[in-house]
Amino acid sequence: MKKIRVAIDGPAGAGKSSVSRLTAEKLGYSYIDTGAIYRALAVFMGDTGVEEHDKIRELLKNFEVSFKIENGINRVFLNGRDVTTEIRAEKISMKASSVSAIPFVREALFNMQRKYAEVGGVVMEGRDIGTVIMPDAELKIFLTASPEKRAKRRMLEIEAKGLKVDFDELVKEIKERDIKDSTRAVSPLKQAEDAVLLDNSDINLEQTVDLIVKYAHEREGK
Ligand code: C5P
Repeated sequence: MKKIRVAIDGPAGAGKSSVSRLTAEKLGYSYIDTGAIYRALAVFMGDTGVEEHDKIRELLKNFEVSFKIENGINRVFLNGRDVTTEIRAEKISMKASSVSAIPFVREALFNMQRKYAEVGGVVMEGRDIGTVIMPDAELKIFLTASPEKRAKRRMLEIEAKGLKVDFDELVKEIKERDIKDSTRAVSPLKQAEDAVLLDNSDINLEQTVDLIVKYAHEREGK
């Protein structure tokens, strides 16, 4: 049985992170959340007060991100510091989306992500994994759901933390981020030609994971 590379792309809020982490767990593969890398860079910029392009270039020379799964949570470390919670703040989402549109940032992070892709047995999630980072992945999934379903899931997550949020505002933010991610000049979010389109508006997390694991086993030759 061979270990394959699984690329999972799709818009914000389609459940990519939970789906990818659980898929990796079931397959016994490693899991790489590439959005967390862009988010960590946004945190790093905030920490250092850096906004100008020249300074971001400098920052990238001392930028390291690592991951460690602990009790089912994918912990993210920026230069050794745990930023797992910080990177999920709404203002970081917007900043990560902006910084990810800068061509030299994508180039620098491309090399970082390729290193993770060199070995088989990986589930990598993002926006351009099947199209740019691992165009030769054995299994590509384009995971999506309607903006309303995605907003609903996000709302439940926020409410579970005891916080309140406006549903219409969330739908608006999700649509804005979709436009931003799919219309940018470099590596826009788009489905790879050979990706399997998976709309999970009407199926739950477990059913989504089971489907992807089934496809992966087929590709592994199981
Ligand atoms: O997936 P997540 O929402 O954590 O990603 C944060 C931001 O990073 C996204 O809005 C997207 O613009 C960017 N991103 C990207 N390419 C990836 C992963 C994320 O441009 N492979």
